[in-house]
Amino acid sequence: MRFPLHITTDNVFHQIRQARQGHQRYPMVLMLEPLYTCNLACLGCSTERHTGKLTDRLSLEQCFQAVEQSGAPGVSICGGEPTVYPELKGLVEGIIERNRHIYLCTNALLLDTKLFGVVPPHKRLTINVHLDGMRDTHDYVCDRQGVFDKAIEMIRRGKQLGYHMITNTTIFKETRIEEVEELLALMETIGTDGMLISPGYEYESVDRDIFLSRRETEEKFQRILELSKKHRITSTPMFLEFAAGLRDFRCSPWSTVTYTPLGWKGPCYLIGQKYYETWDEFWNDVDWDYWESRQDVRCQNCKMHSGFETSAVREAGKSPRELLRLAAWNFLG
Ligand code: SF4
Repeated sequence: MRFPLHITTDNVFHQIRQARQGHQRYPMVLMLEPLYTCNLACLGCSTERHTGKLTDRLSLEQCFQAVEQSGAPGVSICGGEPTVYPELKGLVEGIIERNRHIYLCTNALLLDTKLFGVVPPHKRLTINVHLDGMRDTHDYVCDRQGVFDKAIEMIRRGKQLGYHMITNTTIFKETRIEEVEELLALMETIGTDGMLISPGYEYESVDRDIFLSRRETEEKFQRILELSKKHRITSTPMFLEFAAGLRDFRCSPWSTVTYTPLGWKGPCYLIGQKYYETWDEFWNDVDWDYWESRQDVRCQNCKMHSGFETSAVREAGKSPRELLRLAAWNFLG
């Protein structure tokens, strides 16, 4: 099974509840950025995340309020680097108490000192390690030697200790697909619980020429789609087909809402056009029709997981054949 049963059932029940209440748009994942501080300055990261001061972090109360207000069954703790957040233990425990599932997105450098032995394994906690290729590529993207080796050591240690460990790989212009296959094989040897693959996004604040145009994305993902037939990639087949240019969806920016030290980020995880102090202002002010249509120039090359995975799953829900395919992919894969 690609997703543990409790995650699948929580998500399905959440969607049924929302449909019964007549809601067309609702969050599935809260991207919680409790701090902008990071111990790396990766090339593909928005520069706003390189400069944050630790004093500017969210309080635990602000984090929990965002969890409650969004209502999303999943909380992706990102940042910044969440293992640098001083209140990490309380944050993880408080979100678990609220029956949400956590994806702790980390570069893994501090897992041994800040998480292992501090927060015990739990079925609602998934550790999601950023891994953008084999050693040379990953260390290049992270702009530091040794990051790859440390991440691999932490993934092995996490598995030994009983944590649910997955990886998240962004595909850049430099990414060789042969290398992605090598990485998939290595993760299978280690026994990781899943591997997400997503195209990079051209942040307004990133000026390096490493991101993919739409055509380049589609070419690379046509090959990744082939790899998904042999390897256990966690991105849904419908999303991979979309990334490969074989089908098209409207965006679902409301499905992945983002809360940061600056407030609620609108319209989406990638574009911080405006930050809102309150949930109601954010939810009622963003022009969802406009952003769903992808007519904005900043949407033209975007094929991001955060905008389109929900679109892909929703589309599958309209066809019994696609729904069966999705169920088979999750339960038999
Ligand atoms: S297409 Fe991408 S950039 Fe545009 S709203 Fe959706 S997620 Fe954001």
